Amino acid sequence: MDKHLPQLFTIATLGSHSALQILKGAKDEGFHTLAVVTPQNERLYKSFAFVDDIIVIARYADFPAIEAELNRRKVILVPHGSFVAYLSPEQHKRMSTPYFGNKAVLDWESDRMRQREWLGRAGLKMPRQFTKAGDIDRPVIVKLYGAQGGKGYLFVKNADDFSRTASHLVRQKYIMQEYIIGVPVYIHYFYSPLNGKLEIMSMDRRYESNVDSLGRIPSSDQEGWDLQPSYVVIGNQPISLRESLLAEAFHMGEAVVRVSREICPDRGLYGAFCLETIVTPEAEFYLMEISARIVAGTNLFIDGSPYSYLNYDEPMSTGRRIAREIKNALLSDSLEMVLDQSSGLHGASSFDDAATVSVVVPGPGVPAN
Ligand code: AMP
Ligand code: AMP
Repeated sequence: MDKHLPQLFTIATLGSHSALQILKGAKDEGFHTLAVVTPQNERLYKSFAFVDDIIVIARYADFPAIEAELNRRKVILVPHGSFVAYLSPEQHKRMSTPYFGNKAVLDWESDRMRQREWLGRAGLKMPRQFTKAGDIDRPVIVKLYGAQGGKGYLFVKNADDFSRTASHLVRQKYIMQEYIIGVPVYIHYFYSPLNGKLEIMSMDRRYESNVDSLGRIPSSDQEGWDLQPSYVVIGNQPISLRESLLAEAFHMGEAVVRVSREICPDRGLYGAFCLETIVTPEAEFYLMEISARIVAGTNLFIDGSPYSYLNYDEPMSTGRRIAREIKNALLSDSLEMVLDQSSGLHGASSFDDAATVSVVVPGPGVPAN
């Protein structure tokens, strides 16, 4: 096995969200690393020894313009939340640079109705959804489409409240979901297509402004004050789940992966993903959303989490786990199992010379640790 093979490849990502975790993990696994940054972030990313190269672009949306340069450098892209925030699903699909993950999943993830169908087929419980404001018979949360970190979400108490606070949204795409009171638990998974194993990597609960602070003001003092809860994510806190709930968390992850193979044949969802749940006093998980890539809550666990420690005797962040999967694929000549190169603009792969490097191939199914 050629332990030096990863050095021939560069793992790259956009400089924001979970880039530090991804690039540190890539370096720990022996890859060359590249951060694509905007001018205001350049000095920050340069200050870390594990970032080998930097490319500066004026705005993240300019990313497609550097594709040829990335392909020349044998880059493997690891996407995170900023990719979906700044690039459209169409731009993702046009991108010819080898990409960790299955882009076909984006169509199911980015459309909230299709996402609901996916989670429903996996047998997961979801908050009730309302299609007409007139049908609202309980408190709801109104959510805009797209990964926006809770920005613009509205709490609506009843149908009258909707016309008062949310009617301006008519021209935007949104959904209205039953408001579930409980603990928001975000479960971070990794599914390996190489060994067919699902792992729970870590978990977090979000800290959101101002909703997580409203409890600091007694409700009697809130009366008469026109307070609107908002859900803008400010940070993340670690959480460890009651162990008796862990089996269900694991089964939910398995079900989501299983159904993804039916809806996006044949590779389905693989790599990092997150189930965003609210857990009620009855200890029931309600699924708010699925995120089909690394989420920022994993940044709490750059040095590993209590859960990753159960599977690995070394610090294993989600970012490092991604690099480990790419390395295992590389060493077993199975890169096509973990990379999406479907745009086909530049032929099957920009890695033709690397393929000629001779390695002993252990075959797919390389153990993760
Ligand atoms: P940024 O590059 O920080 O603007 O983030 C890109 C996308 O990821 C935005 O939609 C953010 O709202 C989301 N995001 C960034 N950090 C977090 C976080 N800690 N938790 C959840 N979402 C986040
Ligand atoms: P999301 O963008 O779906 O991850 O939601 C962002 C935040 O909005 C969550 O962390 C919750 O605080 C809140 N939220 C979303 N959906 C619901 C729901 N159905 N009931 C209660 N709160 C919710």
